[in-house]
Amino acid sequence: MSRQRVIVIGGGVCGLGVGWKLAAAGADVTVFDRGKAGRESTWAAAGMLCPQMELRPQEEDISALGLESMKRWRAFAADLEADSDIPLHYRDEGTLFISADQDAAEQLRFLHDHQIELGMPVEWLSGAEVREREPYISHNVVAGLVCLDDHHIDCRGMTRALAEAFVRRGGDLREDAPVDGVVVDDARLTGVRVNGEVIPADAVVVAAGTWSGMLDGLGGDVKPPVRPVKGQMLMLRQPDERILSHCIWARSSRDFCYMVPKADGTLLIGATVEEVGYNKDVTAGAVLDMLRAAWGVLPSVYDLPIIETWAGLRPASRDGAPVLGATDVDGLFMATGHFRNGILFAPVTAEDVAHAVLTGETTATIAPYGLGRFAA
Ligand SMILES: Cc1cc2nc3c(=O)[nH]c(=O)nc-3n(C[C@H](O)[C@H](O)[C@H](O)COP(=O)(O)OP(=O)(O)OC[C@H]3O[C@@H](n4cnc5c(N)ncnc54)[C@H](O)[C@@H]3O)c2cc1C
Repeated sequence: MSRQRVIVIGGGVCGLGVGWKLAAAGADVTVFDRGKAGRESTWAAAGMLCPQMELRPQEEDISALGLESMKRWRAFAADLEADSDIPLHYRDEGTLFISADQDAAEQLRFLHDHQIELGMPVEWLSGAEVREREPYISHNVVAGLVCLDDHHIDCRGMTRALAEAFVRRGGDLREDAPVDGVVVDDARLTGVRVNGEVIPADAVVVAAGTWSGMLDGLGGDVKPPVRPVKGQMLMLRQPDERILSHCIWARSSRDFCYMVPKADGTLLIGATVEEVGYNKDVTAGAVLDMLRAAWGVLPSVYDLPIIETWAGLRPASRDGAPVLGATDVDGLFMATGHFRNGILFAPVTAEDVAHAVLTGETTATIAPYGLGRFAA
């Protein structure tokens, strides 16, 4: 029997993850990226795996998907490191959510109580207990939550690892190769069009991030409703004697930021959430806001050198949840719309979308996230 020929459109965490799993299962896979693989939203991410911190009332379904993906993350990271020989620097000290005034502490109490109701492992900390864990945190901080099960990885290392693992498993990675659109004949996918040429395929996975709805040939009910939500970030360098060891989310009545200390001594501070279309400018106001929020709870950031600033575009679907799996067009699959949590969702996306392509079966985990939910 001939090998199944699959084309993946987009080489971010979604496309490379699905492509890697398909290639490892023996499929003949090509990933096309219109630029360099992994250099869009995936490159911009902080690498946090925080299903518990992200948990909000009304969003329990998305949180359940995040918790399921989180269960798989350690094994996913170990397999990826083994297949690529590139470390992901998985860090499991847990994440602290701290409040810099009484108003924010009340909001935190609400989150804490909601997590307790759902049976999540969460612990309340006084300001002094926060400073026992992180001695450089300001005395303004009055309370905190600790979520030991929320972790983080080196996102850029993960991107390089996915590309390397995909190619080592026999995948064909085509960079600087934009796909114009998909070719559909009588509700059956037949291939993609690249540079005017039709390339035949048995299956196509749309993983083009926030550009997923722009491909030619995706009309009506098979056009994923995704839009860009901009996020700006900063990278600082910590001194040899580190000033922070946990991933921190910090809120005051006026400001919010997160700070993510990486194994190489860099410290990421993020991120804005902006509806400004496809604009990726880094703005003075956003840098000012993020640094003010960080300085308010960790005054020592004042002296740290800024290494890099950037902005990325999160692919957000209409209901904020990812779009995964089969569509009404035979042979056409989706892996897009991952918004704030594409790195967290990487294991379920890679494994369950690859499973759908290979077997035609939709797992119970991704069944609620099909494109069909938008049809009505
Ligand atoms: C500032 C910021 C911080 C974030 N932090 C986190 C975090 O800590 N944890 C977390 O879980 N998530 C985080 N996210 C979200 C996460 O980055 C995204 O959900 C995820 O990267 C989306 O991956 P993707 O593969 O769908 O999209 P992308 O990474 O954008 O990849 C899509 C790819 O498709 C390519 N493409 C587009 N059109 C075409 C075409 N026509 N032909 C060929 N290729 C095409 C693009 O070039 C691109 O490489 C963050 C996002 C931002 C912006």
